[in-house]
Amino acid sequence: MNIHEYQAKALLRQYGAPVSEGHAVTKADEVKAAAGQLGGPLWVVKAQIHAGGRGKGHFLEKEAGEKGGVRLAKSVSEAEELARQMLGRTLVTHQTGPAGKQVNRIYIEDGSDISRELYLALLVDRGTSRVNFVASTEGGMDIEEVAANTPEKIVSFSVDPASGLSDFHGRRVAFALGLEGNQVKQCVALVKNLYRLFIEKDMEMLEINPLIVTPDGNIKALDAKMGFDNNALYRHADIVALRDETEEDPKELEASKYDLNYIALDGEIGCMVNGAGLAMATMDIIKLYGAEPANFLDVGGGATKEKVAEAFKIITSDPNVKGILVNIFGGIMRNDIIANGIVAAVKEVGLQVPLVVRLEGTNVEEGKRIIAESGLNVIPADNLSDAAEKIVKAVKG
Ligand code: GDP
Ligand code: MG
Repeated sequence: MNIHEYQAKALLRQYGAPVSEGHAVTKADEVKAAAGQLGGPLWVVKAQIHAGGRGKGHFLEKEAGEKGGVRLAKSVSEAEELARQMLGRTLVTHQTGPAGKQVNRIYIEDGSDISRELYLALLVDRGTSRVNFVASTEGGMDIEEVAANTPEKIVSFSVDPASGLSDFHGRRVAFALGLEGNQVKQCVALVKNLYRLFIEKDMEMLEINPLIVTPDGNIKALDAKMGFDNNALYRHADIVALRDETEEDPKELEASKYDLNYIALDGEIGCMVNGAGLAMATMDIIKLYGAEPANFLDVGGGATKEKVAEAFKIITSDPNVKGILVNIFGGIMRNDIIANGIVAAVKEVGLQVPLVVRLEGTNVEEGKRIIAESGLNVIPADNLSDAAEKIVKAVKG
């Protein structure tokens, strides 16, 4: 789960990390009061969407002006005007995809003067199974570009969870960022606070880009991006309360209500599979036969007929889906439950696209019988490659 910049900065503040003052607003009429409280003389007007690259982004509507989703204002009335231009408009960045995201909230921040823009992130590194610090002097722009073109400018190291964080980790970050004097002390404190926040809130990612050095020699987090481990959200009611459902894929949101492991993708073949490994193999083989999966979906081991029906409905609600492949290997999952779920869902929402079903394992004969007797227009398949070949053929002709 991700949160907005203004929420991330509130957490940073709570943990003693240096950030500017700011106020989030949803209406342009609220800007005057919000900006007035900050005092000026510089204000930053920042579109709040769950995507980075806002500064370099552009709006789809010409009323929003050409410039990006992070703009500087020299007066309260200018800040209000900029907020008015952005609110309700669609911001496209390299992370949103071409459709962009609607801006429903603006963060008005006290503007900072900048001497240097640095990069600092914490993330769970699957390679080392540890929390990694990533630091670079090349902050403020695409870190992906720095990683690709000048990887030597990125310093990364992990923290041993047994011995935990020490001051030397902070000094290592400070050295990598080219900080000196009092900034080193500030960096050591920041690194400590960020690590504590990261661990206590079960984060997956915490990115500060840019971390700035101000002309008076202090460091400050000017931007913040945070992602949390969904599997740990049950013990963080305060974080769950920050969830903005309008930022999430409606299909994924619906799936999460039924405890389905569902990820929306860009392809044309909807997949309903049990088991994450089989789901990935199914996606691979669809690609092998020349098409793209529209989703990852693992209905899980103990799914009920209702859960299967919901999964099927979520798949069919995707207008990009031109065909559906059901691939079940029944171990704990019984094929008759899958079959009954499919039949129930189709009865409710109909079936406008070809459907290939491959069933194997527990109660397979019963599952096949239910589907055959339902009168559904199903293309049966005998094995994984047969199933993939048939659905790709049915969709591509
Ligand atoms: P992002 O584009 O979504 O990553 O948004 P950021 O919050 O990182 O802002 C993008 C860029 O805007 C930063 O790299 C800065 O160069 C600039 N910016 C943001 N806040 C301020 C500020 O307070 N003062 C100044 N001068 N520039 C800022
Ligand atoms: Mg940024």
